[in-house]
Amino acid sequence: MRKNLVVAIDGYSSCGKSTLAKALAKKLGFIYIDSGAMYRAVTLYFIRNDVKIDNDEAIEEALRHVELNFHSRDYQSHITLNGEEVSEEIRQMPVSEYVSEVSAHKQVRREMVKQQQRMGKSKNIVMDGRDIGTAVFSDAQVKLFMTADPKIRAERRFKEMQSKGDTTTTLEEVFENLAHRDYADTTRKESPLTRAEDAIILDNTALTEAEQLEFALTKVTPFIPQ
Ligand code: C5P
Repeated sequence: MRKNLVVAIDGYSSCGKSTLAKALAKKLGFIYIDSGAMYRAVTLYFIRNDVKIDNDEAIEEALRHVELNFHSRDYQSHITLNGEEVSEEIRQMPVSEYVSEVSAHKQVRREMVKQQQRMGKSKNIVMDGRDIGTAVFSDAQVKLFMTADPKIRAERRFKEMQSKGDTTTTLEEVFENLAHRDYADTTRKESPLTRAEDAIILDNTALTEAEQLEFALTKVTPFIPQ
C-alpha cells in the first residue's frame, strides 16, 4: 500500500484535465505533473532531429538524448527539454499533430512511464494524462476520468490558443486535431486511453472550474490524514 497520495486524472484531449489538476494540486499543496507535456517534448525532439517513428533503433538512441525536467512556477507546469524551456512550443500545432503517433510507440511509453513512476514514488502528486489510472499508477487512491462535449472542448482549446497569440489555426483544425487524437489514443495497442474500473467519471461540459474543483476535493479529502 503506497504511503504517498496519488491523484490520477485521465480523459480525452482538451477536457480541462490540466486546469483541474493544477487547481487541485495548488489547493492541496501537492506536486502537479503534466504527463502529456512529456510526450509532447519528446515529440518536439523527434521533429527537430528527424527521428522516424518506424525506426526502433533511432528511437532508442534518441530517447537516450532526451532529458526532461519540470519547473513548477505558480503551479503552471514548465518543462525543459535538454535544458531549454519548451512549454510554449510543445502546445503548437506541429507537435499536436504528431504527438499521438509518437506516444503510441512502445519504447517511448516505457521510458516516460518509468520517469513518471519515479516522480510519484514518495511525494503527494496530481498527475494528468491518458494512462495514469490504468498503467502508471494503477494503485492511485483517487482516479478521475474526465470527459466533455467535443464541440465545447474544441472551442475552449481554440480560445486558449488565440489568447496565446495563435491567429492562424482555425476552430475546425482544432476540432479535427482533437478528434484525431481521441481516436489514436483510444485505439492504440500500448496502454490505450480507457477508464480504469475504479475511476470516477467527471463530465464537465456544463460545470465551472470551481464546481469541478469542489467535486474533486470531495473525492480526495477522505484520503488526507487529519
Ligand atoms: O495531455 P495532452 O493533450 O497534452 O497530451 C498530448 C498527447 O500525449 C495525447 O494526445 C496522447 O497522445 C499523449 N499522452 C499519452 N499518455 C499520457 C499523456 C499524454 O499517450 N499519459
